[in-house]
This record gives sequence, C-alpha cells and structure tokens, in this order.
Amino acid sequence: MRLRVLGAHNMESRDTRMVSHLIDEVLALDAGGLTRSLTFDEQKRIRAIILSHRHFDHVKDLLPLGIAIRNSGVTVDIYAIQDTADFIKSKLLDGSLFPDFLSSPSVENPVFRVHVVEFKKEFQVLGYTAMAVPVPHAVPAAGFQISSDDTKLFYTGDTGRGVADIWPYVSPDVLLSEVTFGNEMEETADHVGHLTPALLKEVLEKFKSQHNYTPRVIIAHMNPPWEDKIRQELKELTKETGIEFQVADADTVIDL
Ligand SMILES: [Zn+2]
Ligand SMILES: [Zn+2]
Repeated sequence: MRLRVLGAHNMESRDTRMVSHLIDEVLALDAGGLTRSLTFDEQKRIRAIILSHRHFDHVKDLLPLGIAIRNSGVTVDIYAIQDTADFIKSKLLDGSLFPDFLSSPSVENPVFRVHVVEFKKEFQVLGYTAMAVPVPHAVPAAGFQISSDDTKLFYTGDTGRGVADIWPYVSPDVLLSEVTFGNEMEETADHVGHLTPALLKEVLEKFKSQHNYTPRVIIAHMNPPWEDKIRQELKELTKETGIEFQVADADTVIDL
C-alpha cells in the first residue's frame, strides 16, 4: 500500500492544503486538498473516496473534482456514514452550487455515487477491505481501517481522545492520526474533539495496553499556527517514549 499525502493541515494557504490522502493513486481519504495536489490525469484516476465527516476541510474538493472528471465517463464512488452522506447529497452536491453530479451525465453513470456505510461493518472498496468506526468529534465522524493483503492502515479522521474506545475493534500496522493543536490547547481539543501530542500519547498507551504493540504513527491535520509547537512536542514525546512520529508533509509518498 502506498500512501501519498496530499494535504496535511486544517487550513488552506499558499503553503498548506486541507486534509486529503491518496492510497495507491486510486482511493482518496477525505477531499480537502485533493484537486490542487493532483494533475487532471491523476484526478481522473481516482475511483473511490472515503469521507471521515462533513466538515469543510475534508469535503470541499468534491466540487472541483466533479468539474474535472464530469466528461470523462468515470463514476467515483463515495463512502461515508449516514450523517456525512446526507450532507453531501442534500447540501454540497444537490445541484445548487453546480450541475447535479449525482444524476448527471446520467442516473446510471453519474459523476459521484454515494454509499452509506455502517459502523463496525466491513465493506469492499476497490481491492481493499474497509471498516468505519465511530470517533468523538464536533459532528458525527468516523475513523476508517483500510486493509490490503500487505498492510492495515487506520485513519482517524478528526477525533478526540475517545478514539481509544475503538481500539478493541481495529488492529492497524500504521496509524494515520490527527494532531491539531499543541498541548496548551488540551481543553479546547477535548471540547471540540481533536488531539494534541499529550492526548496522542494517552491514546497510544491505551492502544499498547489493548494490543501489546505500537503501530507506526503518521501525523496530519495540523492547525498551521500550532505546527511548530506540535513538531517540537512530538520530538519531546519521542525522547520520552521511544516512539517515532512521521509528520506528514504534502506531496510525501510513504510506502506502508
Ligand atoms: Zn478537520
Ligand atoms: Zn472536523
């Protein structure tokens, strides 16, 4: 499995892109910084998108992607929990912002087809086995385990420390985790459902006590004003725990 980081932040600027990752060039995890990271040819290669939740920084590029691929004859399958799917269908892709991507060019072959997934129930997407699990956040949100023959990845989406409650249900080799704020912001992080380096430490300790190993950890979804602090606090955490953290930079390709 090859992970290409497209966007690793929760705010957009010349230097930062919103959250999106691409697996093996065909399966996208979230659609924040999707289109501005890829050529048109690369956009047309995408066959499926898994959405973690409905927040803007995770879904906004569905519109420019739809515009880019609408004459290519390709249908992209979107997988999401009910709340996210309802939002996508009734608000973002309802035809009021652009022609209706869900029923054109034809109902049989639309630009996007939205599939609702159930928590803790495996489903097949392209050649992968995927499963959504509930994670605590300001709106209904899911983390996703994605398994191929060679590896298992768990993508947290946006989550607070309660993500540890779902450790009994997943056993990833690689954890692609959000860390949004520095440690000073723990109260806010707890309030809205995000992680800091200290909260990540707690979450990883619970993982280890559940599974007896620590997965490889990749960090994304940084809030840009906190990025330097996050990187520094993660380095301190490595000294303390021995766990290496790979901070995801946009355009990095990581073999899992
Ligand atoms: Zn977010
Ligand atoms: Zn969010």
